[in-house]
Amino acid sequence: MTGKTKNWKDGEAQTTATVPVLPGGEPYLFTPGPLTTSPRTKAAMQQDWGSRDRFFIDTTRDIRRRLLALADCDDRYDCVLMQGSGTFSIEAALASFVPRDGKVLVVANGAYGRRAAKILAYLGRAHELLDFGDHRPPDLRAIENALTTDPAITDVFVVHCETTSGIWNPLSDIAELVARHDRRLMVDAMSSFGALPLSAATLPFDVLVSSANKCLEGVPGFAFTLAKVALLEEAEGRSHSLSLDLHDQWQAMNANGQWRFTPPTHAVVAFREALIQHEAEGGVAGRFARYARNRDHLVAGMRAMGFETLLPDHLMAPIIVTFLQPEDSAFVMSRFYDEIRKRGFAIYPGKLTAAPTFRIGCIGQIDVTVIDALLAAIRESLSVMGVKNCAPPAGWGAHLGDASQ
Ligand SMILES: *Cc1c(COP(=O)(O)O)cnc(C)c1O
Repeated sequence: MTGKTKNWKDGEAQTTATVPVLPGGEPYLFTPGPLTTSPRTKAAMQQDWGSRDRFFIDTTRDIRRRLLALADCDDRYDCVLMQGSGTFSIEAALASFVPRDGKVLVVANGAYGRRAAKILAYLGRAHELLDFGDHRPPDLRAIENALTTDPAITDVFVVHCETTSGIWNPLSDIAELVARHDRRLMVDAMSSFGALPLSAATLPFDVLVSSANKCLEGVPGFAFTLAKVALLEEAEGRSHSLSLDLHDQWQAMNANGQWRFTPPTHAVVAFREALIQHEAEGGVAGRFARYARNRDHLVAGMRAMGFETLLPDHLMAPIIVTFLQPEDSAFVMSRFYDEIRKRGFAIYPGKLTAAPTFRIGCIGQIDVTVIDALLAAIRESLSVMGVKNCAPPAGWGAHLGDASQ
């Protein structure tokens, strides 16, 4: 994050701010994965490793051990790595752990909860979708009611931080409820693991899925599942898919330390470097602290310009923040994105159906210096676009039909 001034190409917008630029004019990614990784993590990908190489096998083993330790998992749990994006591991976990005659209660308040329900439909597994919209926390009474009235439910699927809005869901309350009703808990901790506190010692989950390229700041290529060993054993022969069979992958990894099929070797080696840096930053607490500073700095700077956040402060995880698009007719989202991108930063489109929004991530190798540079780029972009007022339409909260503001 050095502070040299970028050399702008002809025709590109000029900036007066001193922007911290990455080598090669690479943009800073304010996106929830892929995200900006450290030079050290990137450098680890300069070497090629064979999948049977001792170094690579040791790296795989070390990653599994470190991931279990991050969630305080004792030897009742094990960790399975799986090629592909996060969704591949969600699908693998649902197919491997939900009994064919089981039924999943999917607690959803965004796209990722709903995607799990869609996967279950593909898999032909019974499920009930409790959909709380896009920006409200799940209602615990509704969950409890479903568990009480439907004895067929065997598993509950919950998203820790719903990246659609950035809402921080009350996972420990839900876990307590699920345990009290003696069901299994599956957690999509994709965008939270490594930054939001989560301990198997106090939050007894059965299955948890997360990915290399979110808060642990690796590059895309694989994801991982932490699961009870008893469930991994029971999963034998259950998956519809050979490549996504977590039991089979687990058996192979334990037998010879290898991945069954071609592993993303560069991503795996880089991830180990990312985990070492995570530890050096102070583990989960250290990363949480930096991301929370990023979020607070970002939100304060955007509010100072007149932008409003979708969520009230107490629901906003330090992962990604959703802002309402201004009503000002000079504001055109695609132009806004392009102007910011020209200045070296990539933001993220909104994913809400109810209101026009955009999102800015707080995660990855960024700190408040980079946030300041982004805020300067946003101010310049608004100025060249002629946007005078960043306020969303009056009464948008009422339009969404709730009391989120
Ligand atoms: C990123 C993410 C996923 C998985 O997305 P992929 O694009 O498949 O990596 C799942 N759930 C949540 C909450 C996420 O943030």
